[in-house]
Amino acid sequence: MKAKILIVGGGAMGTCIALHAASRCDPLREPVILIERNQLGSGSSGRVGAIVHQGYSDRAMAGMARDALKVYAGMKSNTGRPVGYRRTGVLTLAGKKGSAAAQQLELDTAMQGSIGIDVRAVGAEEIRQIAPGIEVADDAFGSYEPDGGFVDPGRTIEAFAVLARNRGAVTRIGVKNPTILVEDGRAVGVETSAGTFHAPNVVLATGPWTPAILKSLGVELPLSVVRTQETFVRMPEVLVEDEDPAHEGESADFETRFIPDPLDAMPVAHPVVFDMEQRIHVRCEPKERRSRVGRIGFDGLEEVPVPPAQDDVVDPAFQAEMRSALGARLPVYKDLEELGGQSGWVTLTPDQRPIVGPVEQIPGLYVVTGFSGNDFQLAPSIGEGVAQMILGQPVSAIDPEFFSLSRFQKV
Ligand SMILES: Cc1cc2nc3c(=O)[nH]c(=O)nc-3n(C[C@H](O)[C@H](O)[C@H](O)COP(=O)(O)OP(=O)(O)OC[C@H]3O[C@@H](n4cnc5c(N)ncnc54)[C@H](O)[C@@H]3O)c2cc1C
Repeated sequence: MKAKILIVGGGAMGTCIALHAASRCDPLREPVILIERNQLGSGSSGRVGAIVHQGYSDRAMAGMARDALKVYAGMKSNTGRPVGYRRTGVLTLAGKKGSAAAQQLELDTAMQGSIGIDVRAVGAEEIRQIAPGIEVADDAFGSYEPDGGFVDPGRTIEAFAVLARNRGAVTRIGVKNPTILVEDGRAVGVETSAGTFHAPNVVLATGPWTPAILKSLGVELPLSVVRTQETFVRMPEVLVEDEDPAHEGESADFETRFIPDPLDAMPVAHPVVFDMEQRIHVRCEPKERRSRVGRIGFDGLEEVPVPPAQDDVVDPAFQAEMRSALGARLPVYKDLEELGGQSGWVTLTPDQRPIVGPVEQIPGLYVVTGFSGNDFQLAPSIGEGVAQMILGQPVSAIDPEFFSLSRFQKV
């Protein structure tokens, strides 16, 4: 088969690149093909909390998150494909006012506000109103982003893939063992279990499996893969009402083709909380009637050269640590039932910014990886930016320099 753009990997990034590439290519003359070895979303993207928020310290990332959030919020009304966006708000706690973390958060909040993000600094009194029952000191400092929340990762990937197919992209599932074909130093396609795919542009959106694939081509990128865990706890009875029961901003007279799933309207017990002091994040999963708790940061995690299959094994010591930190912040969780957990692979870069762009040693090969555990939400901006870059269009959705591999070579 011949393609104009061949994408390897059907996670959030691969499917969204396919969507934006297919929107710009003639399906007959310039086909876009995505190959995935398992199922769409069977990598990290299928296991995420899918928190969407704009709380980055980097202006470029915050801008992308702002644009991406608008895409998620409007998916249902603009495309007819809901992604389960819930506007629960995101509360970030930085500890005491005046501490180093609080000063940084204050700067971040001001920068985010300056680029049009609706976010505000909050003190103890307002924090307690936003999340009743939360334990904070009287001199606590935080920020609150009312438009943040989460999406449903499975529905998001499905939506990107369906929309990509509607625009003529081909998705080939169960295609294994791709070997990148290089001729005269250029990527020219991929040989696989399902035959050869010829393409002048090959995109590796293979998540944590990317470093190993690149290594086989003699390309070493500054990437490391670590295993991260999240634990699940029964969601408390609802403490606050959902701010936006319509969820995706659709007006009351918007004609829906399907009867909405009542579980989609289930209220959450509290907003998403990023707790820099306890170093945890927690988000409610109302459909599953549980909350998902994870650690902020990846220090001390062991590097894994080639990640094996994903698993659901969670270390009891990790669970105990999360429970203790969660209970200290939100005591309502103290006696609630533990409901297992999940682990996943995170691909880290030295500056925790993704690597998105061409691999200079092999023209025609592009890499989209290193999302450092936090960037599922950026998929709409990454998808559009990568499509623009490959097709030689003005790149407006991302800052190519900011994400380029060459930033490591310049230091
Ligand atoms: C536990 C956890 C929680 C997270 N929570 C959040 C969150 O709340 N918010 C957020 O924004 N981000 C979060 N992240 C980060 C987020 O998961 C990633 O940034 C994002 O999912 C990366 O998507 P991807 O498409 O690059 O990779 P992946 O989703 O890993 O997709 C890669 C795909 O490539 C396929 N593939 C791999 N090798 C091959 C091959 N040789 N041939 C064919 N196909 C191949 C895989 O099967 C997979 O489907 C979290 C990550 C983890 C692990």
